[in-house]
Amino acid sequence: MPKPNPLRPQLDALRAIYAEVEQRALPRQCEMRTTCCHFRVTGKTPLVTRIEALLAAQGVRASGRKKLVAHPQDACPMLGVNGRCTIYAHRPFGCRTHFCAEAGGPYPRQHVADLIRRMEALDEAIGWHEGSRPFEAALEDALEELR
Ligand code: SF4
Repeated sequence: MPKPNPLRPQLDALRAIYAEVEQRALPRQCEMRTTCCHFRVTGKTPLVTRIEALLAAQGVRASGRKKLVAHPQDACPMLGVNGRCTIYAHRPFGCRTHFCAEAGGPYPRQHVADLIRRMEALDEAIGWHEGSRPFEAALEDALEELR
């Protein structure tokens, strides 16, 4: 029998936060250009909480991968060669709330500040006190932990 995941309550709570983001979606016209996934082009890498990195790592593992492989154009390693996110259901909060200027721009901080605080509280609950980190580094560490 598989061992129960001790982080299950926090992972479920994070999924609930992601669902809430969808429920309070603002009008945006994302045309899936994936510009925002090209961190080195935009100069902006999403910051993620520890619990977000762990959920994203579960998405990587669910897709059959055990480690990150660099993207050929230096974009997010989760961006597939078909131009789609390979962990879409597990993608971090920043990917759900950041939109390029053409799509209408990022959600205003005050629109989601309470959800960010709830994610930070989840990190506290699992004993992580180092704050949010750049996505790739945090994801690599989370994958290591899942090994
Ligand atoms: S996780 Fe997915 S949506 Fe987010 S930057 Fe990477 S490829 Fe894009």
